Amino acid sequence: MERATATRSAPPAHGNGAAADAPVIDVHNPADGSLVRQVPVDPPERVAEVFARVRAAQPEWEAIGVAGRRRWLERLRDWLIANDARLADVMQEETGKVRAEAEQEGPFICGTINYYCENATEFLAEESPTPHILPLKVKRLRIVYRPFGVVGIISPWNFPVILAYDDAIPALLAGNAVVIKPSEFTPLSVMEIARAWKEEIGGPDVLDVVNGVGETGGALVDEADYVQFTGSDRTGKVVMKRAADTLTPVSLELGGKDPLIVLRDADIERAVNATATGALANSGQICMSIERVYVEEPIYDEFVGKLTEQVRTLRQGEDGRSYDHDIGAMTSPAQTDIVADHVEDARKKGARVLTGGNRKDGPGDWYEPTVLADVDHSMKVMTDETFGPVIPVMKVSDADEAVRMANDSRYGLSASVFAGTTDQGEAIARRIEAGAVNVNDVLTTYFAMGVPMGGWKDSGIGFRHSSYGIKKFVHPESLVIPRIKQGKRDPLWFPYTSVRRKFVNRTTRFMNARGIRNRLGL
Ligand code: NAD
Repeated sequence: MERATATRSAPPAHGNGAAADAPVIDVHNPADGSLVRQVPVDPPERVAEVFARVRAAQPEWEAIGVAGRRRWLERLRDWLIANDARLADVMQEETGKVRAEAEQEGPFICGTINYYCENATEFLAEESPTPHILPLKVKRLRIVYRPFGVVGIISPWNFPVILAYDDAIPALLAGNAVVIKPSEFTPLSVMEIARAWKEEIGGPDVLDVVNGVGETGGALVDEADYVQFTGSDRTGKVVMKRAADTLTPVSLELGGKDPLIVLRDADIERAVNATATGALANSGQICMSIERVYVEEPIYDEFVGKLTEQVRTLRQGEDGRSYDHDIGAMTSPAQTDIVADHVEDARKKGARVLTGGNRKDGPGDWYEPTVLADVDHSMKVMTDETFGPVIPVMKVSDADEAVRMANDSRYGLSASVFAGTTDQGEAIARRIEAGAVNVNDVLTTYFAMGVPMGGWKDSGIGFRHSSYGIKKFVHPESLVIPRIKQGKRDPLWFPYTSVRRKFVNRTTRFMNARGIRNRLGL
C-alpha cells in the first residue's frame, strides 16, 4: 500500500488555504493502513512566505535575551507535560509505535527544555580573551554569540517529536526563529506542538511547520540561514549539495550500523537483555539501534540461545493506551522492503534464522522480531543500515577481531561494549570509530545530555546535545574595542614612512623572535 504520498485530491478540512486541487500528503496509520488525515503540501512560494514571516519576528525574539526566551520555552514544557497522553495518541496513529514508546517523546523534549534553559546562559556567555601580544593590550577583545536568523529543520519519521524539537529547542533558545519540515510519513505530532505554541501558549511568531517532500525540503534549504537535517545519508548529501549554492551551514545527523561487542567475561544475562532492547526498541527503527552483534567464541552459543529465547517472548502488536505489547509496526513501507531484502540476502548466503524472518500477514506494515546466527560481512545485514527488528550475531575469535569488525563500516554513529570490567570495556570503547560508545549499556549516550551526540564517517557532520548542541546555532561575532583614548593615526596606517616602518619592524621582531639577542637583532 502507498502511504504518505503527495497526491492531488479534495482539500482537507484543516487546510492552510490551499486550492481545491492542491497536492496533499495522505498520512496513514502503519498499524492497520487506515487513512488518518490529509495534510496540504507547501509549495516553495509558501515556504518563502513562512520564512519571511518568522524572519520578521526573529529580531525581537533575539532582543529579549536568554531569560526572556526561557520563559516561553518553559510554558511549552508545561504544555507538553499536560498534553503528553494526547500527543502520544497522535504519534501512535502516525507511527504505529507501542504506547510505552510513543509516551517517551514529549517527556524527553521537556528534559531538553530544562537542560538548555538551565545551561544556555553559560553556553552562550560572552567571552573576553586576553590579547596575545603587547600592542593589543590597549584593546578590549570580546566574543559575542549571535543567532544565524532562521534555522530550517528537516526531520525523519522514526522519532517525529524528538528529532524535530531536540534541535528546535536549542535553536530557539539561542535566539533563532525555526521552521520545521517533518517527514511526510509523520507530520501530525510536530504540527500539533507548533499549533499549541501559537494558539494555546500564544508564543511569538518564531516557530512554524511546512509540509512536503523533496520540493518543500529543497525550498527550506534555500531559505534557511542554517540547516539542521536528520535522516538518511543519501538525502543528507542532497541537502548538503543544495546548501552549497547559498553557502548555508549544515548539521547532518545521519544513519548508522551500530555494533555491539560481547566479550567472554561479560555478564551474559545483561548483555542479552540489552541487545534485545537496543536492537528491537521502536521496531529497530532508531538511528542508534544495535544493528550487528559480535560475540567472543567461548560464549557465542550460550548468548545466541538466550537471546533467541528472549526475543521469542516479546509481544508484537497494536496496544492503544495499554502497555501490553513490546514491539510495534514498521512506520515506512519502503523500510519494511529493505528489512525483508536484508534477511533474504543473509538467508541465501548461509545465515540461520533462529526466530522471526517474515513479514506479518494482515493489514499494516509489520516485520517479525528476528535473530540471525552465522552471519558475516558478505551479507547486507552486516554492512547496510537495516533499520528494522533484526539482530544478526557473528562469532569472533577475540576482542581484537571484534574491534576490527566493528570498525569495518562506512558508518560511525554509536556502539556498545559489554565486558567483565568497566576498565576493559572502556579500553575497547576507546578503539571504536564512532561518535558515542556505551560500556555495558545501550542507547544511553542519547539520553546523557551532557555529552555530544553525533556521527563520524557517513553518519554525519555536527553534534546535538551538550554545549555543541546549542553553539552550532550561533556564530561568533568578534568585537575589538579601544581601552584608551586614541591618536589620529596608528603606526600601521598609511602613509608608510621609513621612520614608522623601522619602528614597526623593530617592535615585531622584538615580539616574535626568541632569545634577547635575537629580539634586539644583535
Ligand atoms: P530520509 O532521508 O528519507 O528523509 C528525511 C527527511 O528528508 C524527510 O523529512 C524527507 O521528507 C526529507 N527529504 C526527502 N528528500 C529531500 C530533499 N530532496 N531535500 C530536502 N529534504 C528531503 O530519512 P527517513 O527515512 O525519514 O529517516 C530514516 C533515516 O534517518 C535513517 O537512515 C536513520 O538512521 C536516520 N536517522 C538518523 C538520526 C541521527 O540522529 N543520526 C536519527 C534518526 C534517524
